[in-house]
Amino acid sequence: MTKFDYDLFTIGAGSGGVRASRLAANYGARVGVAEEYRVGGTCVVRGCVPKKFLVYASEYGHGFNDAKGYGWSADNVSFDWSKLIANKDDEIDRLNGIYIRNLKNAGAEIFQSRAVLKDEHTIHLEAENRDVTAEKILVATGGAPWVDESVPGHELGITSNEAFHLEKLPKHVVVAGGGYIAIEFACIFRGLGCEVCLVYRGEDILRYFDTDISVQVHEEMKRQGIRVITQSVFDNIEKLDGDEKRVHLSNGTHIDTDLVFWAVGRNPATGGLGLENAGVELDKKGAVVVDEYSKSSVDHIYAVGDVTNRENLTPVAIREGATFAETVFNNNPSKMDYTFIPKAVFSQPPVGTVGYAEHEARQKFENVDIYKTNFRAMKNMLSGSEERVLMKLVVDGDTDRVLGCHIVGAEAGEMIQCLAIAIKTGVTKSQFDETVALHPTIAEELVTMREKFKPSL
Ligand SMILES: Cc1cc2nc3c(=O)[nH]c(=O)nc-3n(C[C@H](O)[C@H](O)[C@H](O)COP(=O)(O)OP(=O)(O)OC[C@H]3O[C@@H](n4cnc5c(N)ncnc54)[C@H](O)[C@@H]3O)c2cc1C
Repeated sequence: MTKFDYDLFTIGAGSGGVRASRLAANYGARVGVAEEYRVGGTCVVRGCVPKKFLVYASEYGHGFNDAKGYGWSADNVSFDWSKLIANKDDEIDRLNGIYIRNLKNAGAEIFQSRAVLKDEHTIHLEAENRDVTAEKILVATGGAPWVDESVPGHELGITSNEAFHLEKLPKHVVVAGGGYIAIEFACIFRGLGCEVCLVYRGEDILRYFDTDISVQVHEEMKRQGIRVITQSVFDNIEKLDGDEKRVHLSNGTHIDTDLVFWAVGRNPATGGLGLENAGVELDKKGAVVVDEYSKSSVDHIYAVGDVTNRENLTPVAIREGATFAETVFNNNPSKMDYTFIPKAVFSQPPVGTVGYAEHEARQKFENVDIYKTNFRAMKNMLSGSEERVLMKLVVDGDTDRVLGCHIVGAEAGEMIQCLAIAIKTGVTKSQFDETVALHPTIAEELVTMREKFKPSL
């Protein structure tokens, strides 16, 4: 018996914290978990899952239109935002219940409370106003939306946290940001029939992606009627009558809107956590600095997930939580492999990507070959939609290994999940070529790209 109340105390019951706590408890550890909001964390409660429901809802907005070319008449369709939100909430409640049950069944004790560190082994539970001690501590507090508070009137805007609980569907939305959350919500609101304007300070949206993806998504957004304003930021936000606001932009123009949406980034949730009381080192952005086993600068304090600001994705947080539990509670040192992590942007059409972007490959490899195609999918020939598909392969010209694959088009995420298996295990372009096409599909184009792309001079 140790002198501590718990072998492991986890702060934050999101993707990473829940997985680590469950596994540690399964390995026999006495585990306590504190959650200040809802068990399941960002992904389940106000991230991936509710967002995907809104994406599905929004896709119908285009689907009804497209169906006309196939003989359907869909003239008097209507949409009920409150019903969507209520149904989404029911499903989130169900998932939240499953997460709680799974933790309890594994033997972990859950505290519905904000937790802060008092010293390197003591955790203060604010809701219960008491302290508990633990031999090992896992910080899994995730991240939080960042809002530019230097902008006068910034508080008139919402973030993704509030977007899932809006009482009514806005008429006009102005989104600040050019990352995946900004793009996804711009497309969601557009598909639901709102006027949408996206304001981004940089030149290219989705700037961490391959340039062709960024260009294609920009074009598709414009085609849907989303106004995209680049190289501009919010100067100030003014309250008008009722729900109306006026957003003044740095380019000298203004936009009147009933919803202002901040999607300009997220920060690690370490503020007020008391990590300094335990001597835990943070980086400039406030992320916990960890080694490859997710260990912080203090020997028995670990951190996983978005709070470490490595790859801020749910499956990564889950895998980091699992490798932590394996290493610390199953005597099996395990590291996370960050190469070839597939990613998606649930824009409309969606993006799926894995491996090197062209510019990254050109920095690292001497000879890079590009194969790409851009076409209208068969389905759109009758629907009349002008939506296009982009597919791009980045290949090492010396070894023939496929270094990256980038897709914008229907079901891109589904395609990339499967392709990621082959690309991570080193598939070559010749093996793509040897694979027989599955006809008629969009994906067959992936194995029929024969000509290297030659940029026009
Ligand atoms: C709008 C949106 C869409 C997203 N879409 C995707 C997607 O499609 N795919 C994908 O892979 N990822 C997506 N993500 C990212 C994904 O949600 C995160 O990477 C993932 O949730 C990180 O897991 P985590 O365990 O690190 O943190 P979280 O899931 O954020 O969990 C942290 C938990 O800690 C709690 N907490 C914080 N501080 C304390 C404290 N002091 N005491 C007690 N509890 C505390 C929080 O309430 C939270 O529940 C999205 C994120 C957002 C915001």
